[in-house]
Parts: sequence; structure tokens; C-alpha cells
Amino acid sequence: MRFATYLSGGRRHVGVVATDGLSIQGLALPAREAERGVLALIERSARGEDLVGFDGAPVAIDTVHLDAPIPLPRRNIWCVGRNYHAHAKELQASVFKDSNAAVESWPIVFTKVPECVVGPFDDVQLPIGVSDQIDYEAELLVIIGEGGKNINRADAMKYVWGYSIVNDVTARDVQMRHQQWDMGKSFDTFCPMGPWVVTADEFDGTSARVRCWVNGALRQDGNTVNMIFDIPMLIETISRGITLYPGDLIATGTPAGVGMGLKPPQYLQVGDRVRVEIEGLGALENAMVAGDPC
Ligand code: MG
Repeated sequence: MRFATYLSGGRRHVGVVATDGLSIQGLALPAREAERGVLALIERSARGEDLVGFDGAPVAIDTVHLDAPIPLPRRNIWCVGRNYHAHAKELQASVFKDSNAAVESWPIVFTKVPECVVGPFDDVQLPIGVSDQIDYEAELLVIIGEGGKNINRADAMKYVWGYSIVNDVTARDVQMRHQQWDMGKSFDTFCPMGPWVVTADEFDGTSARVRCWVNGALRQDGNTVNMIFDIPMLIETISRGITLYPGDLIATGTPAGVGMGLKPPQYLQVGDRVRVEIEGLGALENAMVAGDPC
């Protein structure tokens, strides 16, 4: 199934998206739960509760405002750096000083703050004055269902509730300026997410084409089969000694073709439009606008 979070009639709703993607039918969730988006369904599922019924008839999807499926994650989003061979190579000489061999022993894991999430078609505000090297990263998002700790990779896929898409927007100069990546990854609006969640029974995250366009020009064209650390390995690694909770999010890294890897680098500018698409999941598209002066 495909579940979306959306705004309509002055409040937030959660609904089921029709197979053709053209309509959505709201679920009868109490407003307090609907406010948390699809996370409310994941938590109900983890508690063993049945899916709630529908609330009214389907409506055309273009009559609602699609929000991020999980508008405010319960905690920071786990993110994986340099998880595709070609992308690791394109950035090897720029951001990172350590050897490629070290990177391929253990995944790089960092986080983005929950508050940087925005909807699939919302604007991204460029923090001009802080950064002039803002970049895109098209990524498959893994959504944890039933939580757990010390999950073995052989069992890991049972813990995946569904999948979505994120653009892991990154200020490269800020990423390099500080020893940790979180600041350069966590500016307000730096995590467009959506357009909805496809449940794990209907999507194969281990073999999915991931593409990104800037102003219509194809920049990234990869496939999750080429991850250095696959989804089971990521879940095993992150859950070693750290409990994963229902609704936890793992952004699985980006293929080659980011702006920093181009010669010369091409960073995002006000007025640019970035589209990220994963076959079988859908697409998000965001305009770059000027943020508040810093
Ligand atoms: Mg990334």
C-alpha cells in the first residue's frame, strides 16, 4: 500500500494513495495522531493494532497539499555517507581525507535533525551567507517498523516497514568546516521527503533505480544494487547496541553525480528545481529559494 500525509481543510490527514496515484482516501485517525503523519500508523502497527478505517470518499490528489509522510520524525534521521562506489570515488579527493579502504570497512553514519524535513514539493531555503556550496543527494529512505536492537542482517528486512525518497540537501562548505557532518546537513528545509511511503511488501529496496535532475538535466542515475553497504548491513550496523524504534528513518546514501563531483563543481542556486525519482516509489521536486539572510 501507499500511505501519504497531506494537508486539507486546514488540518493534517493520513490517507491511502490509489494505485494510479491520482486519488487519496483519508483514514479515520484522531487529529492528534494524524498530526504525526504515517508515523502514527507505524506505531499502531508496532503495537499490533489493526489499520483504521476510511474517513470519507477518495479525493483527487491534486486537490490536497502533500506533506512529508513523516513530517516530524521522532528523532534524528540516520544517514549513510559515501555508500555507492562511484560516489565515494567522485568525492575522494575533495571532502574527505581518509582512505577509500577505510570507508569500505565501516559505513559512515551521521544524522540530520528532525526539523529539517519538508514536503515533497515544498521550497528548499538556501541559507545564503552561511553557505555558497549547496548540493543535492538523491536517496532511498528506509522506514523501520517494529523496533529492535542487535538485529542480525539475516533478519533485518523484517524490520523494514516501508520506503520513501529523500533529498539529503547538503552545504558542502559547512560539512567540511566542522568535524561532524550534522550541521551542514541540517539547515531548515534540507530534507524534502515523499511523496508517500510504499510498504515493504510492494517495493524491493535492494534493486531500485535512483535518479536526480537539476532544471531538467539528469545528474544522478544509480541503482541501490550498487550500495557498498546494503540495507540489511546498515540495519545490523546501526542497531548494534542502539535500539531502533518504530518510525526510525535511514537515508541510505546517494549515487554518483552530485554537484561537488562535477568539474568544475556546480552548486544549487536560487531558482533551481531539483527532482528526485525512484522507480516504483514516485518523485519529489523542490524549488530552491533564498532563505532568511544570515
Ligand atoms: Mg547523503
